[in-house]
Amino acid sequence: MAKTIRFTLDGRTVEAREGETVLEAAQRCGLRIPHYCWHQALGNPGNCRMCNVEVEGAAKPMVSCRLQPKEGMVVRSAAPAARRWQRAALEFHLVDHPLDCPVCDQSGECGLQDYYMDIGRYPSSLRDDKWHMGKRMPIGPHIMLDQERCIMCTRCTRFVSTVSQSHELGIFGRGHSQVVDVVPGRSLDNPYSGCLADICPVGALTDRDFRFQVRVWYLDEAESVCPGCSRLCSIWAHTSTRRPWHNQGRRLARLKPRLDPEVNGPWICDEGRYGFAGFDSDRLGRVLRLGRDAAELPWDAACDEIAVAWHRVVRHKKPEGLAVVASGALSNQDWAGFRSLFVDGLRLSRFLFAPEPDQVGAEDGLLRRRDKVPNLAGGRAFGFGAEIQSLTWQTLAEQIEQGEVWGLYVVDRDPLKVWGEKGRALLERLDLLVYQGPRKGLTGELARFRLPATAWLEEDGEFTDFQGRVRGYRRALEPLGQARPDWEIFAAIEAAFHGGGGL
Ligand code: SF4
Ligand code: SF4
Repeated sequence: MAKTIRFTLDGRTVEAREGETVLEAAQRCGLRIPHYCWHQALGNPGNCRMCNVEVEGAAKPMVSCRLQPKEGMVVRSAAPAARRWQRAALEFHLVDHPLDCPVCDQSGECGLQDYYMDIGRYPSSLRDDKWHMGKRMPIGPHIMLDQERCIMCTRCTRFVSTVSQSHELGIFGRGHSQVVDVVPGRSLDNPYSGCLADICPVGALTDRDFRFQVRVWYLDEAESVCPGCSRLCSIWAHTSTRRPWHNQGRRLARLKPRLDPEVNGPWICDEGRYGFAGFDSDRLGRVLRLGRDAAELPWDAACDEIAVAWHRVVRHKKPEGLAVVASGALSNQDWAGFRSLFVDGLRLSRFLFAPEPDQVGAEDGLLRRRDKVPNLAGGRAFGFGAEIQSLTWQTLAEQIEQGEVWGLYVVDRDPLKVWGEKGRALLERLDLLVYQGPRKGLTGELARFRLPATAWLEEDGEFTDFQGRVRGYRRALEPLGQARPDWEIFAAIEAAFHGGGGL
């Protein structure tokens, strides 16, 4: 059994696990000791001196991020002496700080602001000019550096050394002229570079995509998972709807990692973080019949018309000539409705859920997975990829050309993108093309019926990750217009088929 050590922190008994420091035990128990350089995944160099505490019987201050507790030790982090030491460290960090809080995008989530208001509030003793350094330096595609705001905590250099192992950042110079900068000739472009804006405790490294879009106190947040690959990292979705004129009208302001030791720890990759910047672009919000008699329809009418169109074709063609194209972006709830409608109900046998070329990407030993869709594992649990095998794009194109396939039901895929120009001729041969998805895509333009589906942040649901773990996500935004979750659309169409006596 792991050994525990009992000590007292600010009058409360704390049990530290073997190997834990006073600061780590305090963090785990929800007790707050000021700190900058310590980070749960990056170690404890002890250079910021903010976590100084008073230890009974010790003559000098101790930094709690390096202090191993002993049985019965009495530690005070808020005693007058401890506060005096912490305040002195804070004043030292602020000596050359530009104090541009009103125009700093870190405002509202800055460690300097927070500790100054909590434990600082001292009159400045600075009489000389501040030391000036580089401002607004774009050091990579996603990160802006402001050297004047840096407090030399070294979290960023430790990140590029030990986590991304890309070594683009270093500390140059000595004493007053010491600065964080990119190594000459390099750019901060590793696949996890956005994490640097998360770990920088001040406004020295900020996110170029997010900065100056919306003040953080106008954001709302919801627990979610990233659907950028089958890792399904835990994230916070920060949304901006209270002031629609902020953030250029983008409802999804940013994605941030949500600490999850079993899945992604405190990190997410840039593909996931920035891959959803266009969340609201090219979206569908209206149920449409397209073609010569184009019209906007209520859901019931659209489902009935799809059932009637299907019956009309199968009077003279085989029912199994309808093929269905879907992807691993469906949730477990969607896969259940998908199976119920197309396999158990219509008894179809032609399915394509093979990835599009851009749904297979880079993989590394940290987080990123090769399959850039979240839920192929969930599909397998419903038989897709197991007893039900996927057609290839080539086979499906041939079957349309030979007239074996007369109709397509496309769920959030874009065959036209895969097939290129010849795809247009293929799709125009079909008797029935139904398109369902959150985005229009190229194929949506050619469909007879276009059905708007919700995107993952607009619904509650579950995915299954590549290790078989079921991961839930919650609604963070209202659906756009008439959009509905895919499983609800499948159920409505199934009901329409029942109403028409087709099933
Ligand atoms: S840039 Fe930020 S993370 Fe890096 S040393 Fe400075 S304050 Fe720390
Ligand atoms: S590793 Fe995959 S799930 Fe995690 S943030 Fe990146 S794309 Fe999203």
